[in-house]
Amino acid sequence: MSIATIEISISGLLHNVAFFRNLSPNSKIMAIVKANAYSHGKEKIATLLDNHIDYFGVARLEEAIELREIGIKSPIVVLEGLFQHDDMQLLIDYDLQTVVHCSEQIEKLAQLSTPAALKVWFKLDSGMHRLGFRADSATQFFAKLVNCDSVKKPINILSHFSCADILTSHETLKQITVFDQFIDSITDPSLLGKQSLAASGGILAWHASHRDVIRPGIALYGVSPFDYNELNKATGCQLGLKPVMKLKSEIITVREHKKGESVGYGLIWQSSRNTKLGVVAMGYGDGYPRDISPGTQVWLNGRLVPIVGRVAMDMILIDLGPDSKEQAGTEVIFWGNDELPVEKIAAHSGMSPYELLTRLTKRAKLRYVD
Ligand SMILES: *Cc1c(COP(=O)(O)O)cnc(C)c1O
Repeated sequence: MSIATIEISISGLLHNVAFFRNLSPNSKIMAIVKANAYSHGKEKIATLLDNHIDYFGVARLEEAIELREIGIKSPIVVLEGLFQHDDMQLLIDYDLQTVVHCSEQIEKLAQLSTPAALKVWFKLDSGMHRLGFRADSATQFFAKLVNCDSVKKPINILSHFSCADILTSHETLKQITVFDQFIDSITDPSLLGKQSLAASGGILAWHASHRDVIRPGIALYGVSPFDYNELNKATGCQLGLKPVMKLKSEIITVREHKKGESVGYGLIWQSSRNTKLGVVAMGYGDGYPRDISPGTQVWLNGRLVPIVGRVAMDMILIDLGPDSKEQAGTEVIFWGNDELPVEKIAAHSGMSPYELLTRLTKRAKLRYVD
């Protein structure tokens, strides 16, 4: 095995796609592979899923082009839409679909003369107030978009939830109502394409939001979008998903460590017994959080072992205990098995699982199994 590895389970990924098909049999799936597929390697994930899903969603135009250049065939939607400096011709050349969320983008589209050249998604701001046309003027902008010859009809509609991960919030139902009112305001049904509202939170918690296209991101990778805390320890696994990523590495060396000695930068931890410490090739240079709460554990040889001292750029120390027989080369799992779900490590680092996953660095090598 190579040191500092991001191991990706192909069967886990396919299980999660099947889970969504089953949960929402009438919806198409837009697999979200932005941010390097949440660090799962977007080229490989897209290649594995190309025949299993209906669309890919990315944030930026470059991400979409990179997928086309390796031969990805499925429709690809650029969720942040075109930027001022982006070339619209690239969307046509690479057969990409874009989200349209502001009037400047409509003006750009109006200048393009190629008839029905572009498939677009009209983004309604149903309450998040980040991207999209405000509900009070959306109908008017939709009409402008309809008037662009370059835009293929019918036009797809999407919106995004602000609080779908908060199960007690009323916002999601309010946003669904705003969405439906907008849909009802479009009097010509021949203009109305696919509807899409739900990302992972909506898919798992708000069935009424499924519509024509669901957009799983984090849940596709087997991770729960819901807050993981003392009260709610829901992991992706408990929701019926399979974790896709395991972060692992190996022990470089095992050291004898004396009672009362401290260790590592700042000498922040002191041992209360004679013990053995494992030095593991993993650090914040690979993306493991530096500010992990004391006592956070790793998994090796069928048991949990605590991290001690400060997480460094390249190394992490673990307290193996005085009776340890481990030697250099022993595999260490940082997250991704039943005992150490990524949701738990995220909670220990004061981050969301989204951030924990996307901050992994290129130094940690991707490997695909089963
Ligand atoms: C990132 C994103 C998603 C996926 O979100 P998850 O919470 O990871 O499922 C879906 N839709 C849009 C518009 C997004 O930006």
